[in-house]
Amino acid sequence: MKVGIDLGTTYSTVARYDRTNSRPDIINNSFEKELTPSVICFLDNGEILIGEDAKDMQAGGAGIVAASFKRSMGDDRFAVNAGGESYSAEMLSGMLLKKLISDAEAKTGQKIDSAVITVPAYFNDFQRKATIRAGETCGVKVLKIINEPTAAAISYGYNRETNKTVLVYDLGGGTFDVTLVKISKGNIQVIGTDGNHVLGGKDWDAVISKYVCEQFLEEFGVDPRDDEAANNELIVASENYKKVLTKTDSVTVQIRFDGNSGKYTMTREQFNTRTEFLLNATKDVCNKLISDLGMSWNDIDEILLVGGSTRMPQVPAFLESIAGKKVAAHSDTDLAVAKGAAITAELYCSENTGLREVQIKDITAHSLGALSVSPDGKRYVNEIMITRNSKVPASVRKAFKIVEGNLTDRIEVYTLQGESRVPLDCYVLAKVVVTGFSNDGNGTQIDVEYRYDENGVVSVSAYQGGAPLQVNPEPVPEDVEWMNGAPTAAAGVPVAKNVVICVDLSRSMRNSMDDVKSAISDFVTGLADGTTRFGLVGFGDKIGIIRDMTPDHNTITSALGDLKVNTYGRGTDASPLGTALTMLSGRPGTKMILVLTDGIWGKRDFAVSEAITCRNSKTAVVAVGFADADFAFLKQIATVEEGAIYTTLNKLGDTFSTIATAINAGSMGLRESVEVKARLR
Ligand code: ADP
Ligand code: MG
Repeated sequence: MKVGIDLGTTYSTVARYDRTNSRPDIINNSFEKELTPSVICFLDNGEILIGEDAKDMQAGGAGIVAASFKRSMGDDRFAVNAGGESYSAEMLSGMLLKKLISDAEAKTGQKIDSAVITVPAYFNDFQRKATIRAGETCGVKVLKIINEPTAAAISYGYNRETNKTVLVYDLGGGTFDVTLVKISKGNIQVIGTDGNHVLGGKDWDAVISKYVCEQFLEEFGVDPRDDEAANNELIVASENYKKVLTKTDSVTVQIRFDGNSGKYTMTREQFNTRTEFLLNATKDVCNKLISDLGMSWNDIDEILLVGGSTRMPQVPAFLESIAGKKVAAHSDTDLAVAKGAAITAELYCSENTGLREVQIKDITAHSLGALSVSPDGKRYVNEIMITRNSKVPASVRKAFKIVEGNLTDRIEVYTLQGESRVPLDCYVLAKVVVTGFSNDGNGTQIDVEYRYDENGVVSVSAYQGGAPLQVNPEPVPEDVEWMNGAPTAAAGVPVAKNVVICVDLSRSMRNSMDDVKSAISDFVTGLADGTTRFGLVGFGDKIGIIRDMTPDHNTITSALGDLKVNTYGRGTDASPLGTALTMLSGRPGTKMILVLTDGIWGKRDFAVSEAITCRNSKTAVVAVGFADADFAFLKQIATVEEGAIYTTLNKLGDTFSTIATAINAGSMGLRESVEVKARLR
């Protein structure tokens, strides 16, 4: 049996896809409950309690209790010491998973052989790998780890027909996450995610405890917050008062402290007013994500609430007021994540189970970078290879040329995860050592590939002339302070990429422009890595440079708005190749001209002669045609045969992603002309 497991910070849930009724179903635990507390208790007699029993002990204060350990996944500094043993968050998660699995097996009478496990979208590489290992220690195959908001969206959208852009608003106990997902027939595509990981239900609790302490202080002149034990007790109690306010209009809190006793009432209205700043903080995160994606609230069709804190009635009310639309009513606030994981597990079945094929396209919440040296050679920098919110799987190949005269036989590559240009503001994920290449000292070239797999897990591989090289992981040194210092002598230099996109703007393109713009926009966004430069050219009977070379893909995507047919005449008497070649001339790195056309050009012989000049200048021409374009002509101007592509408007996006892959792999006729830009350690 395959299951989906929501391995939560406070509660966990197991679900499976019920083929008879064609829907995901929760498998209750041995207490007949849908949710199992993510709590483990080590008793003094050596017994270990997990779940419901452990939670009871937590309240009673017996034994050593481990809770919320998911927050420390992948962090080697975290340990729970009990019975002479030290337990990492990964080990604790493994124990919890084992319990969840054995309960589910007992309940269903079936053996669980594989599972899809959920993780927060912001989990980094360490945390994802630790989650996979925790699953494997239970003896189940981890089919996939999936982001929680993605799973929630799958559960909500897998059998819906309509095209919708859904905002998944996940307000948990200590974190807030927002994710935008496009749902259409059988397609669940995540387009962006962001969050605030110190904002959650606990902040609402704190508002209640603050309010009553202030009242107490005014009445008796002493502040319960000055006493740690009293303060802690009040914070825990406040969570319950908060839940009371979810159900009723007011709550009365009694505090006994320092020989005094006070009784205070808080109405829901007071609570709402005093916590509005917290909701506004979630709004800021939503607004930022929506505008980062070039969208507005008008583009959001539905809002999907996930996480226990969205039960507070002011949450949907607030969202309705800012979004100007109704929040999707669904009762699965706590269960949607597990159900989505169960559906995903079912999709991994080879047999036909009656579940319609669902395509899931996810993204990464963090940029992946390589440790490099700044162009002036003075600092180490995080050079971003794959930007956050890129679709996964994703890979970028970066060519490195070993400095001439350097006879090194090993190259150290450090991967970083984060958004900052400063390496130590990011996670130093891994160190790998590339060996086994031949180096004649004449500027040998190595290609290093940085990759996110579909689970958002990072790997690095390396190639020389297309053949794989040995890549050995080594522990990241304890002390990486040197990344803040001045770089040592460089071994290699990365190769930049340059692409000029030439778009046919003749009259026949008028009904194709929307598709063309969207394909180009995805293409440049996917390739943007801080060093890749793009240019945009339009052509018809004349030629126009719409944007000259820039590393900022946003400049290009916004320029796409200016593309209009007939700007340079109604026909195609001009060839853009010469103009593009001039834009590329003298630039370090690989050079490509990408031509997109839907018709037959007036001066074909001239275009072919320009294409030959490009070839001689080590500039690859890739020619993409659709509709009335002539494949034979495309082949004449493309530098290599695979660089001539005849496609359809529908497949334009796919075609462009094939080209992006080719650019990263240095194929389709790309030849390197390398100049020193930044260095590899
Ligand atoms: P996480 O995913 O972070 O473990 P959950 O989604 O389980 O968190 O949500 C836990 C949070 O939801 C806690 O802050 C809890 O107080 C809050 N919560 C749960 N039920 C309610 C309720 N009925 N009213 C208000 N808050 C609630
Ligand atoms: Mg959650």
